[in-house]
Amino acid sequence: MNSPKRDGPTRHLFITGGVVSSLGKGIASASIGRLLKTMGYKVRIQKLDPYLNVDPGTMNPFQHGEVYVTDDGAETDLDLGHYERFLEEPCSRASTVTSGRIYQSVIANERAGKYNGGTVQVIPHVTDEIKQTVKVLAGPEVDVVITEVGGTVGDIEGLPFMEAARQFRHDLGSQYVAFIHLAYIPYIRAAGEIKTKPAQHSVQKLREIGIIPDFLLCRAEKPLSRDVRDKLALFCNVDRANVIDLPDVPTSVYEVPQVLHKQGMHESLCRRLALPVQPCDMHPWDLMVSHIRKPKDTVTIALIGKYINHQDAYKSVTESIDHAAYAHLLKANLLRIESDQLEKEDGLERIREADGILVPGGFGKRGWEGKLKAIRHAREHGIPYLGLCLGMQAASVEFARNVAGLADANSREMDERTPHPIIVPMDSQREIIAAGQLGGTMRLGAFVCTLTKKSSRTSKLYGGAEQISERHRHRYEFNNAYRSRFEEAGMLFTGLYVPDASKPEHSLVEIIELKNHPFFIATQAHPEFKSSPVHPHPLFKGFVGAAYRRKRGHAGSETEVNLAPVGETTP
Ligand code: GLN
Repeated sequence: MNSPKRDGPTRHLFITGGVVSSLGKGIASASIGRLLKTMGYKVRIQKLDPYLNVDPGTMNPFQHGEVYVTDDGAETDLDLGHYERFLEEPCSRASTVTSGRIYQSVIANERAGKYNGGTVQVIPHVTDEIKQTVKVLAGPEVDVVITEVGGTVGDIEGLPFMEAARQFRHDLGSQYVAFIHLAYIPYIRAAGEIKTKPAQHSVQKLREIGIIPDFLLCRAEKPLSRDVRDKLALFCNVDRANVIDLPDVPTSVYEVPQVLHKQGMHESLCRRLALPVQPCDMHPWDLMVSHIRKPKDTVTIALIGKYINHQDAYKSVTESIDHAAYAHLLKANLLRIESDQLEKEDGLERIREADGILVPGGFGKRGWEGKLKAIRHAREHGIPYLGLCLGMQAASVEFARNVAGLADANSREMDERTPHPIIVPMDSQREIIAAGQLGGTMRLGAFVCTLTKKSSRTSKLYGGAEQISERHRHRYEFNNAYRSRFEEAGMLFTGLYVPDASKPEHSLVEIIELKNHPFFIATQAHPEFKSSPVHPHPLFKGFVGAAYRRKRGHAGSETEVNLAPVGETTP
């Protein structure tokens, strides 16, 4: 769709949060982006994170949840995953900025003498650097840049970002820059009352910095009464029409764009930013949400991992399973299983209810043997299996040990002295691993993969494409020395990365598929970073479909069990 006519520069929206964290600022930002996009505007979105890590790539998933990877290989905050899933626009390195990165660049400039001997200070040097990272997303072809400021107003470490945002409005002109503040409105059960005071205080904190919010998004358990919203408008000095209710959504976060749309936020935003109000056709989105609300059946997927009890550690994976389930008009029940629990004698008990088994990416030895046990169970019992990154490496080792007759096979990551290293460090990674250079040094981002076998399930799922692109984050690879042995034993190498066609020995195994199994596909890539609720990823869609066929007793058949009501297409 062409951008509607816009006069003047790219508009900027800053989104801040107040009272407490974990209010879903990322979801709100992404939902606002979706509405603007649906009106035909070209939107870019970014997150400013006040912590001092240069990026979250080296953080433990228990601390920070999943590390999301962009096409251009940035290791980022999981909010970028929300942005891409809601907006269906690829983010890039420019969409993720931490204090660590800002300081790294300011200090590098200072060392290079770029400040002409001046005293380097938070204002103006750090704030200028922040403003620069916001500006790079703007341009003639971009209508609106949405910038989510991480953390909560009042945090010491967030102050330079807030100050930079304030200056931004001053520099560009207030008609082109708007502020949206998301605040928590608690319900005090003992008093039976909704309290607006914490939100008022958080707005006061913003005003101390010189930021007056244009919109107040009220996060509460339940919808607020008119009186409460009037009170918030008055005391927070926000137009009555711009106090927007954002109660907990009953079924899914994908309902949030609808909640905002119903209150006309898309129109108010356009008016505030002097953009023409455009028709906003929510039909495809509404249809997808209606499938989420009324599933026709359930399917049970076992997710086997190491950080399983952290809600967000496998965020994109669990979202992708859900997207695929929506497309089949199903609800996915997730069995979250700690892989080291599987190592116990009766460890497989819980997995027996699963219609499909998924082993996602991961690092290190803990729980490794449990993953192999689950994969063996899937392979031997015809249970659909999807392996992602480490899940492909584990499937290869399991196959080597139990099918190809290589009893002590392993990955070098888990056993440096294995006689059959099925998984080995990539050539480019050997020195990096030896030197322990951890940050940003893996094989990262999008790489093209050639699909080698037209008749394979993999090729069919990708719609017969010859080449596809998926994102990566790993240091180890399948050892090509074992390729022929595996092929003889019934493994198909259905996807390869071929950097130089004249040197096939340098190709990397990207996707494997087991012959004579209802569904057994594993990939070195992370397809979960390219799924959205309206366009589920084909591998996940195939996997969940196969799991449901198994549940309904049609395992092995290729025909979908069709649950769609007559006349309605699934996304
Ligand atoms: N640890 C494995 C590697 O580095 C797998 C990484 C992953 O699953 N992201 O190759």
